[in-house]
Amino acid sequence: MKRIIVILLSLMPLLMFAKGDKDTRLVIITIDGLRWQEVFSGAEENLISDSKQVRDTESYRRTYWRPTPELRRKALMPFVWNTVAKQGTIIGNRNLNSMMQVANKTNISYPGYCEMMTGMVDDAITGNDPVNNPHGNVLEAANKDLRYKGSVMMYGSWKSTRFAIHNEPAGIPACVSYEPAVAKNKSPRLQLAERMLEGMPHYWRSEHFDAFTYAFALETLLADHPKVMWISFGDCDEWGHARKYDFYLDAANATDAFISDIYEACEADKFYKGKTTYIITCDHGRGFGNEWTNHGSGTKGSEATWVMLFGKGINTKGETTENGPFYTKQVAATIASILDVEFMPDDGTELLPIEH
Ligand SMILES: [Zn+2]
Repeated sequence: MKRIIVILLSLMPLLMFAKGDKDTRLVIITIDGLRWQEVFSGAEENLISDSKQVRDTESYRRTYWRPTPELRRKALMPFVWNTVAKQGTIIGNRNLNSMMQVANKTNISYPGYCEMMTGMVDDAITGNDPVNNPHGNVLEAANKDLRYKGSVMMYGSWKSTRFAIHNEPAGIPACVSYEPAVAKNKSPRLQLAERMLEGMPHYWRSEHFDAFTYAFALETLLADHPKVMWISFGDCDEWGHARKYDFYLDAANATDAFISDIYEACEADKFYKGKTTYIITCDHGRGFGNEWTNHGSGTKGSEATWVMLFGKGINTKGETTENGPFYTKQVAATIASILDVEFMPDDGTELLPIEH
């Protein structure tokens, strides 16, 4: 109890700061199924050395293997560990007792995104189908607020993500899985990326490659200047299911570079510079050891998640220890706090923001 009070008191100044500040932009980035193990410790030795899961173990070890977890994670996600860790707060390293997990019992994607955006768990939501979430969500609440109305957008790789925020009834422009970009102003670069996506093999049926999500989102941020953007990446989860540890590591590394580009581009644009908060998180974890490819209610450890916050209004705590358990459903309250919008989950239980 004492610790809870201390945490609450330490959050007070930031909350007050947020309430008085009306000029905020927010970029939410989700990385589907990227395990805390790789985020906090980099490549896992048994997996990167297994020629059944990595095409060229020698070259992959050269790229991602280092003698310590601190060096390995920097090799895998240099932007996270050189920039985010210095400027923001990172939660979820279970080796340091920093605990975060989903509150839903399925440990799969769609219920994870629903929980993250609605701030509650609906036990009837157990599948991954692209059906509209019946519950109100925090992005919808932002889109009803005069300060953000018409300025909330979403880009995702996987089809079901936009349904987690029932974007059509909520009036939030969103593009997922081979759909055309939703930018009002389509730059020549965006048009080229759209043409390329059309012409590429559609390797996964309900998910396009993250490179397109990145290009579409980046060009839309710079051309349309939405105040709130959710960018949802998916490659890590797909390569995980395919038991391709090499591609899974490459996807984590590429996503880190995409996030770095998005951050640099925003901070070089006067609409976003110094006014933007960034959240990076995931929808579920994966199993341990050989079970790393799986997640779900039967896969031990796949409830584990993590979150990173940086940018405007965020405390510089770096990698945190001995805290939580935080829940993914608290991300909704965190978004509401950052944007200073009123948001009450449909189940009537208001949660505390994780950090802000
Ligand atoms: Zn999955």
